[in-house]
Amino acid sequence: MKWRKYFIPTTKETPKDATAASHILLLRAGLARQLAAGIYSYLPLGLRALRKAENIVREEMDRAGAVELRMPCLTPTTLWEETGRLETMSDILLRIDGSVGDWATGLVLGPTHEEIITDIARAYLKSYKQLPINLYQIQLKFRGEARPKSGVLRTREFLMKDAYSFHHDLETLDKEYENMYATYCRIFKRCGLPYTVVEAESGAMGGDVSHEFMVMTDAGEDLVAISEDRVYAANLERAAAAPPEAGQDDDTFAELEEVHTPGAGRVEDVCAVLGTQPRQMIKTLIYTGVAPASSRFDSDVAPASSRSEAVRVVALVRGDHEINEFKLAKAAGMMLELADPETIEEVTGALVGFAGPQGLVDKIDKLIIDREVTVLRDAASGANKTDYHVTGVNPGRDFPLDSAGTGPGRYGEKVVVADIRNVVDGDPAPIESRSPLHLRTAIEVGHIFMLGTKYSDSMGATCLDKNGRARPLIMGCYGIGVNRIMAAAIESHHDENGIIWPMSLAPFEVLVIALDSKDERANKVALEVHDELAAAGIDVLLDDRDERAGFKFKDADLIGIPLRVVVGKKSLAAGGVEVTERGKESKEIMPPEAAVEHVTKLVRQELNKLAQ
Ligand code: ATP
Ligand code: MG
Repeated sequence: MKWRKYFIPTTKETPKDATAASHILLLRAGLARQLAAGIYSYLPLGLRALRKAENIVREEMDRAGAVELRMPCLTPTTLWEETGRLETMSDILLRIDGSVGDWATGLVLGPTHEEIITDIARAYLKSYKQLPINLYQIQLKFRGEARPKSGVLRTREFLMKDAYSFHHDLETLDKEYENMYATYCRIFKRCGLPYTVVEAESGAMGGDVSHEFMVMTDAGEDLVAISEDRVYAANLERAAAAPPEAGQDDDTFAELEEVHTPGAGRVEDVCAVLGTQPRQMIKTLIYTGVAPASSRFDSDVAPASSRSEAVRVVALVRGDHEINEFKLAKAAGMMLELADPETIEEVTGALVGFAGPQGLVDKIDKLIIDREVTVLRDAASGANKTDYHVTGVNPGRDFPLDSAGTGPGRYGEKVVVADIRNVVDGDPAPIESRSPLHLRTAIEVGHIFMLGTKYSDSMGATCLDKNGRARPLIMGCYGIGVNRIMAAAIESHHDENGIIWPMSLAPFEVLVIALDSKDERANKVALEVHDELAAAGIDVLLDDRDERAGFKFKDADLIGIPLRVVVGKKSLAAGGVEVTERGKESKEIMPPEAAVEHVTKLVRQELNKLAQ
């Protein structure tokens, strides 16, 4: 390919609103152009990189035994009604409701394809003999993301590889899950991504298994907790710390004492008045929720507002801890919403900001206590009286710690002790080493998930088992964000001058630079090197533009082609052409034929190394 005939609109300007390296370089290197918020055109160079990622994904999925198909982007609303997701996903569904001629459209632009694949499955997968099977596609997805940002990391239209496996038993689901796990590892390694697999939250109600494939970078929007010894890694949504060690065992408890704390509603303000630390305080949060029906594999919980009978739940965490909504919902067995000020006043008898656990249990339906709260001694909390807090609060004495309460079986299932907080930096990991956890930002590039029968149940997709009985199909699903692979590669491989592509994703593997467009001999040699590399099957770009050397080198650094062959008067006088690697210091001068051979070998070696 010759640069002059190609289209690489590089630019020096750094876009104002771009902060992520991948976003800046994507635009500066002329890979993509934003058309509207979260909507991008892929320019030729960007498309080549995207295609390379797509092809790696396809090759590895095929190798893993998955079968490719293509479902439509236009999907009927009726299918989304069947699973209730027309409502539960309404915040991101892009809908086309109207009429064209005499056709009344009622369409959703597919954000994911569980409904559509399950519709195919219920039509064709009728017997256990057809199972297991894994069907996948690589296709555009549409989501009305509220805050698209960071270039192509989060867009409203993006390319996803989505795979769905169907099973008649849990053993084959486990096996296929492992197969996909290993396949994802191969895919991301081949793409040159430094990835980490983390345990992921699989939905508030399920006991199911889910993993995310993360690339650690500042530009990521996910928070991941990783132990210092790297043995434990989990998404913050799910990460747990080791349980707290029991407090000291003496029986000198301080007495409850009310303290006047006018206007001090926030933890820090209260601490200042009481002369205590947030870690010695109990935060008392009041929620409302509605008890749902659940199944083993339910991954979505009905929103609280869609059910009628509200229950009141009080959650206790330490003053320096934050509630984890997923864990709280699991402990409560339902999705919860923070209560409105009227409910809070009704429950506590005080204005918002002065709630405390003492005496509350009889006024609510459930008390959920974080494990760390149970080991506190002489803590402080709200006094359930406006403008007052109390000190000397002791778990077990001032509020019940277990279902027995102060009398056998008194509270039944009303009192629950559970892990309901987000981990914080330095917490011990829940593994033998208790290695300290650290929080890091990450990009989610892939997600694998045991779905179970969630979709087959609601859509009536069954198959006959060995005994001729109809059973709901058991499903797994496996997604990869192809654009995110490309952006994550740039995030993890760049320097101040531009991109340093991994060989496997590089739009071109080799860039030949003819240094002086007026030097005929150099031009001729450059063209020959280009042609021979192309004939050897190398993706090669020839910079034949009539530009200064410095300008060409700047662009070369920016677009980040891994190998470079520079042909100029000086190099020819020194015996040939100069071979360099992007991001490395080394330079070698060699005759043109030798350079072709050397560079071809380097490309192959690097591709093989990544594919191993
Ligand atoms: P996120 O939490 O980042 O919104 P998600 O968990 O909703 O993503 P999935 O439904 O698991 O995403 O989709 C599978 C994969 O598709 C993700 O792992 C991610 O790589 C990619 N992806 C999801 N949303 C987007 C988006 N808006 N833009 C680009 N890629 C995306
Ligand atoms: Mg996900």
